[in-house]
Amino acid sequence: MLALLLTLSTLAAPSGDDLHDFCGTFRAQSAEYLSRPQISPGSGDKEIVSWFEVGPSQLTSEHFVLHWGPDVDFDEERGQFILDELEAAWTVYVDEFGHVEADYAATTYLNAYIAGSYAGSPEAHPGGTAYHQLDPDNRSYLVFNAERLGGDTSWVRYVSAHEMYHAMQYASDTWMQFPEDVWWLEATAQSMSIRVLDDETWPITRIHALAFYPHLSVNAAESLDYDVTRSMHRYAMYLLVEEIIDEVGPEGIVETFLVPNDDFMGQLRTSLADEGADLDRVWADTMMRLPTWDFDNGEAYAEFMAGHADDPEAAHQFAIEIPPAGSTGLAAAPAETLPEAYGVNFLHWADPEPGTYALQIQFAAAGSQETTEFGTVGRLVQRLEDGSVTYQDLDLDLTTNEIAIGTDVEEAWVMVGVTGEMGNPYRAPVEVFSYDWVAFRTAELPGSEARACGCAASGGAGLGWMLGFLPLILARRRA
Ligand SMILES: [Zn+2]
Repeated sequence: MLALLLTLSTLAAPSGDDLHDFCGTFRAQSAEYLSRPQISPGSGDKEIVSWFEVGPSQLTSEHFVLHWGPDVDFDEERGQFILDELEAAWTVYVDEFGHVEADYAATTYLNAYIAGSYAGSPEAHPGGTAYHQLDPDNRSYLVFNAERLGGDTSWVRYVSAHEMYHAMQYASDTWMQFPEDVWWLEATAQSMSIRVLDDETWPITRIHALAFYPHLSVNAAESLDYDVTRSMHRYAMYLLVEEIIDEVGPEGIVETFLVPNDDFMGQLRTSLADEGADLDRVWADTMMRLPTWDFDNGEAYAEFMAGHADDPEAAHQFAIEIPPAGSTGLAAAPAETLPEAYGVNFLHWADPEPGTYALQIQFAAAGSQETTEFGTVGRLVQRLEDGSVTYQDLDLDLTTNEIAIGTDVEEAWVMVGVTGEMGNPYRAPVEVFSYDWVAFRTAELPGSEARACGCAASGGAGLGWMLGFLPLILARRRA
């Protein structure tokens, strides 16, 4: 039952109404499975094998059969559109990217149902447009909510391609799924739908879940509730999948579903290494682009995010605000946004004063669950007056990183991230990693405006002031 529950995937039109009805609980199968499947002949050698009552109306294509009935507004034309889209997705996934056909595909159709359209049909997932599920014989089936599909053809295409990818993920029967891997199912389904449609419009509509919760681990997952932005984090993680595809192609993603393993992250790490790329680096390089949306399709991302600027969660986007002239003593990072493993904080420098700074990020020796084996990543992100963005690696294991803010810097961010063993997001509490920080100004740039606060002068000259902290700092270093 656990496995079934975890295959659940739902999509809701972001612009849809009464989304507040969504309860986030799995109760899609209020229509029961039959005690044994109904088997009826299809065309050619294939049979229709269904664990639900078969539909009074049916359409078949090469690989799919769609069942519906008279209880909802639906017709053959709409049915044909869905089947065409499912077949188009099949062609891309199997013929182009190298997914395998499921064992059952040679002799049976993959069932798709219009939810609640006749007695014995599967029910819609509340608030959702469609979902993928496995029947008692481990065959994939898809359920669509005709009402939510509506007449928006781009939405129907997207939903079809996304759900169809879930069927592909299970087709090879090698996918060892654990709760902490659910994010990979959703993030890759988003990215693969982009390749079928050659359009990113719908996946973009969930990126705020990552933008506002960058401190959550890449595998963060919880019951899906369309009113709760953070619950859609796993869909937004397709931004990382996009960067991984840049390195290993779609085939590298497919491989994670073909090779029997219980450690797809390890396998992905190896695939990337074969291409000369490092998974941790690809992840950090993805995350560092979030504040400025410096991606290939970044303009579209920024435009979408502008519509969410007033969301209450927008306050989480940047964990810390750095004063223009830096700060003068170690301060604890706020507890509510501490990074999880494979999560980051952004220390936002809205209007940095030119100069050199001694940046210190001092992690506690252990995480909240006593993990001492973890890594750190740091980046300095600077947006210049001409609109360009620069990135600088920081080594947070160093006691001090010297950073220079030029006179042409309009806005900057320090990204502080943690790597290491990811937790199980379904097993609370998830581990977080606390740290103290200071960005102490050591020198003004020649010609830059003098500051009234005299920070640099008050504690002695620049780094000399920091040396007073050194014994304390060294004592806090983790082993
Ligand atoms: Zn999904």
